[in-house]
Amino acid sequence: MQNLSALYDRYRAHSSIQTDTRKLQPGDIFFALKGPHFNGNAYAEQALAAGAAYAVVDDPAFYTQPDKMMLVPDALQTLQRLANLHRRALDIPFLAITGTNGKTTTKELINAVLSSHFKTVATEGNLNNHIGVPLTLLKIPTGTEIAVIEMGANHQREIAGYCEVAMPTHGLITNIGKAHLEGFGGPEGVKIAKGELYDYLRAHEGTAFVCTDYDYLLPMAKGIPQIITYGGHDASYQGQAIAGSALLAVTLKGSDAPIQTHLVGAYNTANVLAAVAVGRHFGVPEASIRTALEGYVPSNNRSQVIQQGSNTIIMDAYNANPSSMRAAIENFAGLNAPKKVLLLGGMMELGADSIEEHQALVDLLQQTHWHAVVLVGGDFSKVKHPYLFLPDAAAAHQWLAQQQFQHTYLLIKGSRSVGMEKVL
Ligand code: ATP
Ligand code: MG
Repeated sequence: MQNLSALYDRYRAHSSIQTDTRKLQPGDIFFALKGPHFNGNAYAEQALAAGAAYAVVDDPAFYTQPDKMMLVPDALQTLQRLANLHRRALDIPFLAITGTNGKTTTKELINAVLSSHFKTVATEGNLNNHIGVPLTLLKIPTGTEIAVIEMGANHQREIAGYCEVAMPTHGLITNIGKAHLEGFGGPEGVKIAKGELYDYLRAHEGTAFVCTDYDYLLPMAKGIPQIITYGGHDASYQGQAIAGSALLAVTLKGSDAPIQTHLVGAYNTANVLAAVAVGRHFGVPEASIRTALEGYVPSNNRSQVIQQGSNTIIMDAYNANPSSMRAAIENFAGLNAPKKVLLLGGMMELGADSIEEHQALVDLLQQTHWHAVVLVGGDFSKVKHPYLFLPDAAAAHQWLAQQQFQHTYLLIKGSRSVGMEKVL
């Protein structure tokens, strides 16, 4: 499409894309995207008035300034095609990361390692969807040496679509667990959907970094020309968590000094080893890998350790699904701590499996003796359990304020919408 190459020339001249007028900078190219609650077309004129260099709209009713606007059939699709055009102009490794749990953490760790040695661009925060992926691609300046792209999905064919746009040369699936079961049509559906990344790598002479901790990943990766393994056993890059303490330390095979991280939970071991494998593959020196991993501090309520008086709080209110809940509870059970209290919020988007999955977690909880367990909101109200149930995070906050815990470890975790961070 001739329009697209003209648009690409404009992008090359301005190189900044904006889809939100509140964040617009003079000179940006504005894309009028539509969401369930808004129509970006209605803001196109405002964007130009605020100094946008150009606006891409897809509703003729708002195509009011032909010299400064382009009318296209679908602005989102145009954004994706523009991103792909830019991707094709960059002849560098593109590492795509998907999976059920730990994508952002793994991406951040990998970027910390790679950026110690290369000019990298990685997905900012969690911008891993149909808008975030193309916007990330369009933020990659020439001169970049490696790009790291997080891809999230909650339905089939989504990852395949992102791969068409981002054309990864390298790929990593963190793990495949239970999340968004509604959209994927059950656990097998999740596997097929995440496997779309492997399918792309297989068809395009790609390289996969594969974790050996899960028996399903290696068989799924079969046929990908280059496979690099990491994990606790039978892997090229092996390492083990040191058990017991709240902050994770990992011993790499063949190395005496453990890597001391700021991450919580033995489940992060695989995320750390992924970063080691990727770093070593691209030739980052071992000492730089260690420094990068030890220096990384997670943000956004993703598994943070907070010290309050004599109490240690593991705050993981960013999200929750059956597999990450299970991992967090098992990790918590393994900590050396005198008293342990859990405040767990409900899990969302589980569709028909929701009650069963909440019941399974309650069953898991009952295998360990805890000082106290409080279940908050969601379908915990619909399952049988011996614990205190509270309707929301505000009630849990009140409950906690009335307790006088000392020398206690608290695990706080739940789905984003339950807002478990409000408990503190
Ligand atoms: P999102 O789908 O929101 O993008 P994500 O896959 O990017 O999530 P992170 O944000 O890295 O995941 O981590 C979210 C939570 O997932 C963590 O706080 C932790 O509870 C859990 N988690 C992280 N890594 C793993 C893992 N390897 N196995 C199980 N759970 C994990
Ligand atoms: Mg993420």
